[in-house]
Amino acid sequence: MMHTQALSLYLHVPFCKTRCTYCAFNTYTNAEAYLPVYVAALCNELRWLGHVTQQPIHTIFFGGGTPSLLSPSQIADILQTCRAAFQISPEAEITLEVNPFSASEAYFEQVRAAGVNRLSIGMQSVHRSELRLMARNHDVDAVPRTVRAARAAGFENINLDLIFGLPYQTLAMWLESLQAALALQPQHLSLYALELESGTAMTRDVERGRLPLPDDELAAEMYEAADELLTQHGLLQYEISNWARSGWECRHNLQYWRNLPYLGVGAGAHGYADSIRYAVVRPIPRYIALASAQDAPLPFPFTASVEWHERIDAQTAMLEHLFTGLRLVRQGVRDSEFRARFGIALSEVFGEPLAKLRAQGLLQHEGDTWRLSRSARLISNRVFAALL
Ligand code: SF4
Repeated sequence: MMHTQALSLYLHVPFCKTRCTYCAFNTYTNAEAYLPVYVAALCNELRWLGHVTQQPIHTIFFGGGTPSLLSPSQIADILQTCRAAFQISPEAEITLEVNPFSASEAYFEQVRAAGVNRLSIGMQSVHRSELRLMARNHDVDAVPRTVRAARAAGFENINLDLIFGLPYQTLAMWLESLQAALALQPQHLSLYALELESGTAMTRDVERGRLPLPDDELAAEMYEAADELLTQHGLLQYEISNWARSGWECRHNLQYWRNLPYLGVGAGAHGYADSIRYAVVRPIPRYIALASAQDAPLPFPFTASVEWHERIDAQTAMLEHLFTGLRLVRQGVRDSEFRARFGIALSEVFGEPLAKLRAQGLLQHEGDTWRLSRSARLISNRVFAALL
């Protein structure tokens, strides 16, 4: 079968200087010695993957971990490998996640020259006490310094990540962090509610009573207040956790939320293409061993380091389309698009739970479109559970 639909490419860089207390990502500290051979292994897989797809790639995302631990020449090598292996759209959005502890103007100039055109900077908070609580390895001044350096190097498209719902965080503190972020004039803001993931240092401290349990009601207030403030500043919410100036929505993440195909390469990456959802091995040495040993193409979308996959049947694909689409709070899920994609009406598959959620005020149906109601945005998991 010939595919022409544009793909997204996610590259996982699982290295961090230190481990933040809330972090459950697949990332490792004291492992940077592996970086050169990791990059070589990743490039090897990209080359073989390029043999089995003709689909153009319209977004690339270096995520982590801390991808800004890659040197500019490593980033250039990876992007050069991508260009040789795939058809990369000339207008492709290429994002690099940046930890503000180290990046300088010279660094940004070089990664921009390599082709990166969007930065996502982990700001998290403007308060020293909160950065300490999260064990972030940068000080408060590092974020404006990083944004200034990025702007000076010519980066226009900048996202800042912030976290709310932290232990001890007050509404006033949260608003101060937001104001400080807005003062840096980002095109995009991602606001994440703290999740106490199992196995993290912060979760252990909460379980043992060393930290107070975050207050859900206060977190909901913070969320509402953030939306109000950001809207006043021209940043509009387009996804449960994301706000952007018009036209600056993250195209890479939109690919996920529109349930469109993406390839995931690198230790612990996930991918979804040709109705196959897959995950790559997580430990760095295991990834390097498998990825470097690949010496022939595998059926699309596999690479040698994929350790798990499942075939997504039609029913699951429809459910996932609904879940991911509802995350897009303004765009929502359209009946006509659903029918065009799956050949059946949304109401025929999910009529009953949709009607029930609408009666409960958690979903709205206007014209052709289903959307989460405002009150359901922070409790979307409850809505999704009801649809299962
Ligand atoms: S920088 Fe990001 S990936 Fe690394 S430990 Fe902190 S939260 Fe996790």
